[in-house]
Amino acid sequence: MKNKLFLICLIISVIVSSCSDSGEVTVPADDEITAFSYSPNQNMWDSNEGAYFLSVPTSGKGIIKFHEIGTETWDILCSIPSCTHSGPECEAYGGYRWTFFKGYFYSVQRIENELYLIRINPDGSGHTTIGRTPVNNSKYASGKKNIGGFFCFQDGYLINVITETISSDVSSDYLYVMNIETGEVKELLSDYSSDYVHFQYLSAVSGDNNRLLISADLWQKGECSYLEIGITDGVVYQTIPQIDGLAAVFSANETTITYYCRNVGIMSYKIAEGEKVLQKEFDYYYLTLYLYDNYYFGNATVESPLGASKFVVLDSDFNLLCETDMPSSQKSSEDGKSTGVNLMLSSIIGFAGISDGKVWFVNGTGELTHYASVDSLLDGKPDFSPIS
Ligand SMILES: [Zn+2]
Repeated sequence: MKNKLFLICLIISVIVSSCSDSGEVTVPADDEITAFSYSPNQNMWDSNEGAYFLSVPTSGKGIIKFHEIGTETWDILCSIPSCTHSGPECEAYGGYRWTFFKGYFYSVQRIENELYLIRINPDGSGHTTIGRTPVNNSKYASGKKNIGGFFCFQDGYLINVITETISSDVSSDYLYVMNIETGEVKELLSDYSSDYVHFQYLSAVSGDNNRLLISADLWQKGECSYLEIGITDGVVYQTIPQIDGLAAVFSANETTITYYCRNVGIMSYKIAEGEKVLQKEFDYYYLTLYLYDNYYFGNATVESPLGASKFVVLDSDFNLLCETDMPSSQKSSEDGKSTGVNLMLSSIIGFAGISDGKVWFVNGTGELTHYASVDSLLDGKPDFSPIS
């Protein structure tokens, strides 16, 4: 689902009005950032002093925003006088995806046919190029066509997968892994053309043993399988056979994959036993969940991929605590700037992340639009407020 949104963002190229100049932004000193924690979609990062959000408009050029604890606003993380916040010279310029690792932010920016990894200080200063990795394999080009790829951060690595097709029934995959501290790139599974091709998305990593779990189609059999691959050695440790009805994976480790099965519910798959166990029945079309502070927060789609979206909160046993419509998009559509596709995207509201006791919501153009207190959602009575 996340990948689909990402692709939509890449495909639909829309000029978005740039944000107005921010006011004075006070951010914590580097050594005061004590409690960064993983945030659901990797765009929001949380600390004791404030939160950081990579606001990614449909143009794909993200802007870093900072929220000071106790306030209800987000400011652009840039201290350059009279900056227009529109290009790489801006301190808040952030590409399309980022992570926080050992004291720094790392963002991915695409420049021509490469992904650049940029290191950024927590106050927005000191943008430094750490390394580069290709977005296609033109060096192997001999009638091959790049048909897509994905990338993500995990455990101090930038994982980059490229899928290319040679003909209607032959395709190959490439897996690049960059150490984000050193910029060193390793090419794993070079021209990997076994029965398992068309990597779909990176679903999870078993962090204890530095292995990736990647979903892959079994070529010409229409089956979905998983490959468990060593991050640094490229060894395929095991292939996990087809799991029926799989729509979204929440978590995975060496023994269990927990996922949503369309119109059935939340399932666990025990890898060694090859057993599926129904954890909780649900009849949503899609359900994507993120664990935060012992609760699951997420988006549920009713009936079909284009059906109404709900925001849901579940406890650690998957009991439903809250199911609510997304907050109204009134603010975004009335701001006078939204037209056409932009208007459509600004009316799509989704879950952005959690910080400062609040759940934040973002629209399809990357603008934070609403929040509700975590407590109100746990009580099933959300107190949505628009962000002014
Ligand atoms: Zn700026």
